[in-house]
Amino acid sequence: MSPFEYAPAPESRSVVDIASSYGLFIDGEFVDPADGTMFKTVNPATEEVLADVAEAGETDIDRAVRAARRAQETVWGPMPGSERAKYLFRIARLLAERSREFAVLETLDNGKPIRESRDVDVPTAAAHFFYYAGWADKLDHAGFGVAPRPHGVAAQVIPWNFPLLMLAWKIAPALATGNTVVLKPAETTPLSALLFADLLRQAELPPGVVNIVTGARETGAMLVAHPGIDKIAFTGSTAVGKRIAREIAGTRKTVTLELGGKAANILFDDAPIDQAVEGIVNGIYFNQGQVCCAGSRLLVQESVADEVVDRLKERLATLRVGDPMDKNTDVGAINSAAQLERITRLAEAGTAEGATRWSPACDLPEQGYWFPPTVFTDVSAAHTIAREEIFGPVLSVLTFRTPDEAVAKANNTPYGLSAGVWTEKGSRILWMADRLKAGVVWANTFNRFDPTSPFGGYKESGHGREGGRHGLAPYLVDGSTD
Ligand code: NAD
Ligand code: MG
Repeated sequence: MSPFEYAPAPESRSVVDIASSYGLFIDGEFVDPADGTMFKTVNPATEEVLADVAEAGETDIDRAVRAARRAQETVWGPMPGSERAKYLFRIARLLAERSREFAVLETLDNGKPIRESRDVDVPTAAAHFFYYAGWADKLDHAGFGVAPRPHGVAAQVIPWNFPLLMLAWKIAPALATGNTVVLKPAETTPLSALLFADLLRQAELPPGVVNIVTGARETGAMLVAHPGIDKIAFTGSTAVGKRIAREIAGTRKTVTLELGGKAANILFDDAPIDQAVEGIVNGIYFNQGQVCCAGSRLLVQESVADEVVDRLKERLATLRVGDPMDKNTDVGAINSAAQLERITRLAEAGTAEGATRWSPACDLPEQGYWFPPTVFTDVSAAHTIAREEIFGPVLSVLTFRTPDEAVAKANNTPYGLSAGVWTEKGSRILWMADRLKAGVVWANTFNRFDPTSPFGGYKESGHGREGGRHGLAPYLVDGSTD
């Protein structure tokens, strides 16, 4: 060990009790699945099995949707917004009180560094409930028409990259507006949603208002196809999003889709380079790059490209990759063997098509799913790694000469979720933001999330917004049009 290495600083896992098996959370109770099917969730950093989890089938989905309907019509819908707000505030407070438990469980099930689940995922999830609690009694005056009312029962399907945070993005606005929910977490990360179900019982949320059905894609498909669903909110891959949109065409169901991305992080020659390098690192190595809005394409102005890449490599050599439960870890494990396989395949395509691949020296653990932080230079816009979403810690560096060229290259993608601009000039930030086809444009920062700010895509990144006042709209019907 060199004099400046960090000693191990492991977080204790004793703060959370993981049961050996979990049922479905339907109508306020944990119940066994009707046909008894179970699946396993593992810790991707060690491949240790954490628990057996129920796989919901047709009968279970039907029970959950009926419970949600009954709760919506008899309890949650008729309840004054000011009363619903009290439950949301209570949920937010309990999440904050139990934050350590949630952070440890999230890291064990997902593989993300404890520093991120502790400092980003869990506090931001609590903040969403606080924020939407404040809207629950103000909906009549918020610009959604006269006496807006809820759709009814929402089916919500979420991915594995931010399991608790995506749950909060979905459930908080749905409950604030008087809808009830059947939510399906991702199959590799169901545990924080099940702990959240336990928290809902502690909050004494009326039974049936939130139901959690675990399972994989078949369960998700059955849920969105159920005729008792009024509104669908989906976050995940563009392929599945398109499929859902096709399947519900012509039905009364409405849908919001938060899908993939291939964001450009654009660095001009007048940018503060040290800060920008931190922003690039945060943009693509945060959460192992498994972020829909990740800054996976770095567009750097030609005159500073060599300097930026050199400084970036120096910085990457200091990142600590390894045990996600260590409080000093910067980059944790990839979420699953399947995701690791996808990242590996796309990175190999980068080399095969002629780009130059670089990673810092790092010892990866023997067990578990790992991929080192990786940078590709000599990338052209036609390369697979410049076009396809990799959803891993892999950065493609491209260059540009003029602002017009930067805009053209940034928008040269079927996606449009986010973008970043690094420059000293405020006027240039506004000029760029006007032209970038991206739902979020960050200026001199990246990957900042706040419940007050809407988030969502253009083009194949989906439609509809989550967060902010905008995030209420998909859950409301204008009552004056009845
Ligand atoms: P995925 O689309 O395979 O799965 C997402 C969720 O949908 C999971 O819960 C899965 O079980 C479920 N699902 C799968 N097939 C389904 C079907 N036919 N019907 C209904 N549900 C189904 O994606 P993934 O591999 O889990 O997640 C990675 C992808 O998600 C990436 O492409 C990423 O960009 C995207 N993503 C987007 C956002 C966003 O906010 N826009 C956030 C996170 C992830
Ligand atoms: Mg897991």
